[in-house]
Amino acid sequence: MPGIYCTVEGCWDSKESKHRFPNSNIYPELFRKWLDLCNKKALFDLPPNLVYSNYRVCRLHFAEEDFGRNNRLLKTAYPKLRLPGIMPATVSFISISLSNTKLLVL
Ligand SMILES: [Zn+2]
Repeated sequence: MPGIYCTVEGCWDSKESKHRFPNSNIYPELFRKWLDLCNKKALFDLPPNLVYSNYRVCRLHFAEEDFGRNNRLLKTAYPKLRLPGIMPATVSFISISLSNTKLLVL
């Protein structure tokens, strides 16, 4: 059942508050960006209206500065944390960790 789980691929946290996709009629580019960032292939073929009304992205994927007063997600916000795609900061951190700990691999 859509709406309960976070849309981001691999994220199953259902306890965090969820945020609706941007309205594709008003923010088509932002909507597209959210889709790309969630990397959920199934959604690319759905009508934007359906994604908007049925799917949510949980709070874990947004930064502090994405929220305004009353914890409302800003209109310009987009998911940027804990995403399945490439996050430069995370990737370099992982590669450094790996090179330092390769002898510890079981
Ligand atoms: Zn999530």
